[in-house]
Amino acid sequence: MLTGKNALVTGAGRGIGKAIALELAANGAFVIVNYNGSQAAAEQTVSEIKEAGGDAVAYQCNVSDFESCKEMIDTLIKEYKHIDILVNNAGITRDDLLMRMKEEDFDAVINTNLKGTFNTIRHMSRYFLKQRSGKIINISSVSGILGNAGQSNYSASKAGVIGLTKAVAREMASRGINVNAVAPGFVETEMTDVLSDSVKEGLLGQIPLGRTGKAEDIAKAVAFLASPAADYITGQVLSVDGGMAI
Ligand code: NAP
Repeated sequence: MLTGKNALVTGAGRGIGKAIALELAANGAFVIVNYNGSQAAAEQTVSEIKEAGGDAVAYQCNVSDFESCKEMIDTLIKEYKHIDILVNNAGITRDDLLMRMKEEDFDAVINTNLKGTFNTIRHMSRYFLKQRSGKIINISSVSGILGNAGQSNYSASKAGVIGLTKAVAREMASRGINVNAVAPGFVETEMTDVLSDSVKEGLLGQIPLGRTGKAEDIAKAVAFLASPAADYITGQVLSVDGGMAI
């Protein structure tokens, strides 16, 4: 389904990004596994892809840095000639109630989750517009749709990702570029491991389908949006959340 396609997945060494990298590779794509600090995890993702018969490389870049993103994308295009799929998955949390939130925690979350998404799209856009094709899939969150107490920075960043997705979808549609977002609900990864049992139980109670999400649930939705089956879909937010945001 994705044979011959090159995919860049940010934050793909672990968690949801890793599952996305594995899924795209299982569908035939060559995957660039971006990471920031987790080199060993990224190399492990590459090994697992290769063991399963696919192909991938790891590439370090802090997506919150505009110039580093430019260098990454220019280098990758030089090396691999084209990128066809860009998945903006890298994300962080720095939770606190608004009245206690530190300025640096607000900035860090916006800079990684929202500006990081802008940075990669901004530098990829030149190539996507020239090749007159491309699939961009941005990972938002149920928190960006509903808002979540204790996550004003994160909710703002993820709502921002939705606005960015829709604006860019309109700008790029005439050049055959699809831009969509996936909004996961509560998925068990290192990001949610830090939550207390009572918070986890509370979240579980908000899921109509009665179970937490698996990283693979998100990966399947991303693979669909990256595939030709989704050629007529752009500017959409696909909730993969067991019904949390109904
Ligand atoms: P995770 O396990 O904490 O993984 C986060 C990933 O983001 C890591 O691979 C990390 O790479 C990468 N990352 C962080 N800052 C980065 C930077 N500056 N540059 C490049 N990569 C960076 O989190 P996750 O649960 O898999 O979350 C993945 C995405 O899904 C995030 O955007 C998150 O907001 C979203 N999401 C998650 C849930 C959930 O319930 N888990 C729900 C809704 C949305 P390094 O380790 O190399 O730094």
